[in-house]
Amino acid sequence: MKNKELCPICGEGHVTHVLDQEPATYKGQTKMLPLSHLQCDMCTSDFAGLEESRANKRAMLAFRKEVDGLLTGAEVKALRERYKINQTQAARLFGGGPVAFSKYENDDVVQSEAMDKLLRLVRKNESTFWDLVDEYGMTEELFAKAEAVAELKVFGTSTNVIRVNFGDKNEAFLLSSKVQSRTTHAVVSDDSQEQRKWK
Ligand SMILES: [Zn+2]
Repeated sequence: MKNKELCPICGEGHVTHVLDQEPATYKGQTKMLPLSHLQCDMCTSDFAGLEESRANKRAMLAFRKEVDGLLTGAEVKALRERYKINQTQAARLFGGGPVAFSKYENDDVVQSEAMDKLLRLVRKNESTFWDLVDEYGMTEELFAKAEAVAELKVFGTSTNVIRVNFGDKNEAFLLSSKVQSRTTHAVVSDDSQEQRKWK
């Protein structure tokens, strides 16, 4: 059994995986964290193996992000899933390198303050997300059905598109949002042209 390995210290006893709530302190704040270690039933040594060290480090980093006011791995993941993009697409949109999002989401790495601000902006304002998608030429890629996109072009306004049923609730949500963002742009540019005309 995996958790009944021989103790590497005494070589006689067997080790058991133990998960405890233990206090951790960072920048003056203390919180109980789920930390794990291995315990020998013979020599009573307790120590962390590779797997335990990794899990403990993740719990510590998640706590650090919380104290520093940065999005936690779980929050980054929720944001990414809300927009239905995978980790590779997230890295292409937001930067950070090809494995960045796997590391942020697992709390293996703390994202930079700049990355955190970008993600918060996108979390708060959906049209910011679609602006980025446009900017990096990923629009087609993020629309699952070509027919849906064609239909979108026929209806010019967000009101009509919202009523269109694509069969998938989430997809309809994304499509209608996209149109809202486009409509906003159109209005802004028309307005400024109008203003130029009349000045
Ligand atoms: Zn032992």
